[in-house]
Amino acid sequence: MPEHRTGTPARLSQLESFLWHDFDAGFDDWNVWVRRKMPHSAEATTTKSAFRYGMQIHAALRSLQAANSGMATSNEVAGRETFNRLAAHYGIRPRLGEDGLIVLASDRPTDGVVSLILAAFEAMQTGVWKRFKLCREPTCRASYYDASKAAAKTWCSMDTCGSRNKMRRYRAKT
Ligand SMILES: [Zn+2]
Repeated sequence: MPEHRTGTPARLSQLESFLWHDFDAGFDDWNVWVRRKMPHSAEATTTKSAFRYGMQIHAALRSLQAANSGMATSNEVAGRETFNRLAAHYGIRPRLGEDGLIVLASDRPTDGVVSLILAAFEAMQTGVWKRFKLCREPTCRASYYDASKAAAKTWCSMDTCGSRNKMRRYRAKT
């Protein structure tokens, strides 16, 4: 399962990568990721607090992705609350842009997390957030962007998880 997929809008590729990573090694993983994906960001991105907020937003967005994938969980409400709480923490509010359009922005010094929240907001506003999904395969649960026309994909990959699932159904039938 690739980190980046063809068809993901370029503006969302950082968010795509963030959701795709599982940050198993915690703080060290976060720092490696930040250096790779946000090379121009301030020192503040590699603090413990940026890491903590980053992981909170990661969990919150993944629970919303589960809902996008039709896997209803009780975490969805908590995910939304965490998302809103962190958006408030980072002082994200609507601003009127020069072009007369409303944009969401924050005037806080960025620690990296704020750009991830803004990207998620943008995906939600433009209606593409529903394409950020989690693989239905219980042993996988990889995050992916579903760029297919109908946005009806279920697995991260038809070759791996999709066929594994098909085999299982076939065995159950016979
Ligand atoms: Zn999968």
